[in-house]
Amino acid sequence: MDDVYDYLIVGSGLYGAVFAHEAKKNGKSVFVIDKRPNIGGNVYTENVEGIHVHKYGAHIFHTNHTEVWNYITQFAAFNRFTNSPVANYKGELYSLPFNMYTFNKMWGVVTPEEAAAKIAEQRREITGEPKNLEEQAISLVGRDIYEKLIKGYTEKQWGRDCKELPAFIIKRLPVRLTFDNNYFNALYQGIPVGGYTQMVANMLEGIEVRLNTDYFEHKEELDAIAEKVIYTGPIDAYFDFKLGTLEYRSVRFENELLDIPNFQGNAAVNYTDCETPWTRIIEHKWFEFGKDAQGNDLPKTVISREFSSEWKLGDEPYYPVNDEKNSALYAKYKALAANESKVIFGGRLGEYKYYDMDAVIAAALEMCKKEIS
Ligand code: FAD
Ligand code: UDP
Repeated sequence: MDDVYDYLIVGSGLYGAVFAHEAKKNGKSVFVIDKRPNIGGNVYTENVEGIHVHKYGAHIFHTNHTEVWNYITQFAAFNRFTNSPVANYKGELYSLPFNMYTFNKMWGVVTPEEAAAKIAEQRREITGEPKNLEEQAISLVGRDIYEKLIKGYTEKQWGRDCKELPAFIIKRLPVRLTFDNNYFNALYQGIPVGGYTQMVANMLEGIEVRLNTDYFEHKEELDAIAEKVIYTGPIDAYFDFKLGTLEYRSVRFENELLDIPNFQGNAAVNYTDCETPWTRIIEHKWFEFGKDAQGNDLPKTVISREFSSEWKLGDEPYYPVNDEKNSALYAKYKALAANESKVIFGGRLGEYKYYDMDAVIAAALEMCKKEIS
């Protein structure tokens, strides 16, 4: 059989969609498949009663890369949503990330100088370089904040004691002596107006897409109809797990449609105690300020409770566990991948890398530059 397409793209997530769009724009023929019943991969949003529900976890676009921002805004206008989660510790509410509002509520301090003095006093218990997440957290914000806002949340999220977790995880969170509860230090931030699904549909406009199609169930016939394959599924699955399985953290979502207009008054509330079984509750309508496309207030609301869990084969892989053991196994798969001359491995699962959306777009654009002449 003659080759029909220049590229078969396995996966309609952001990596696949960027590659497909650029290839088509450059005159290449492309065919996209996805095993899920929807396009968009993990950024997929589903419309429920006028609310764009983030079906595979809340996604807030943020980036410092002007090139990526200019690229993605071709496909959607973005609103001015700023992520400012609230922490709920046994009914006490605190502002996140750690900033003057948090310190005021925790200690009653009013000036940055008083807050800095309080932190300095509490971090004295850590001497030397922090050896684990617990020590790192106390050294950044002191024991009170560690006990109320970090310990329970982190142990639920990672399923491990804070003393056994690497220090770097907590360094992602900003600590500020200003009244600023913007969670991200990013130049650009927002949510695509009309939902992520519409944005990805715009990227894939005019491109043939077949859903509910697992690559491995039709590999021979699919390989035969394309010059090259862009594979964005799990790299170990491509090789039939022959060297072992890479590990992930998984998340289970419990969604509820409520016949009330406002459940928690914010898009994200983190439950930072140990006893509450979920890590956080997302109330999706607040990503778009509680309005429908016409600007009307939405009468109902959809919430999702997130439960963090250890991943097992068959679960949705969410967060790659980039520890030593898994990184070493990934390096072996990567060596095997280098011998597959017809296949390019890309994206969060294909490269086993915890990419944010902007990084995955940048990686796909970089690959396009190399690959498409
Ligand atoms: P994916 O979106 O996973 O797409 C891969 C696609 O390949 C999937 O649709 C899958 O069905 C398909 N596929 C796999 N195997 C096969 C097969 N055998 N046959 C056919 N199809 C197959 N990033 C941010 O910037 N901000 C956030 O707030 C944010 N929040 C997140 C929250 C959660 C819970 C998670 C898990 C991630 C979050 N991210 C966030 C990261 C973001 O989701 C990723 O950067 C991005 O979606 C990765 O795109 P991708 O195309 O590499 O992978
Ligand atoms: N974290 C915490 N309390 C919170 C929010 C976050 O202790 O209320 C910790 C937790 O250990 C988490 C880390 O900060 O893993 C980084 O948070 P971020 O929101 O960046 O995590 P992500 O889910 O994006 O990996």
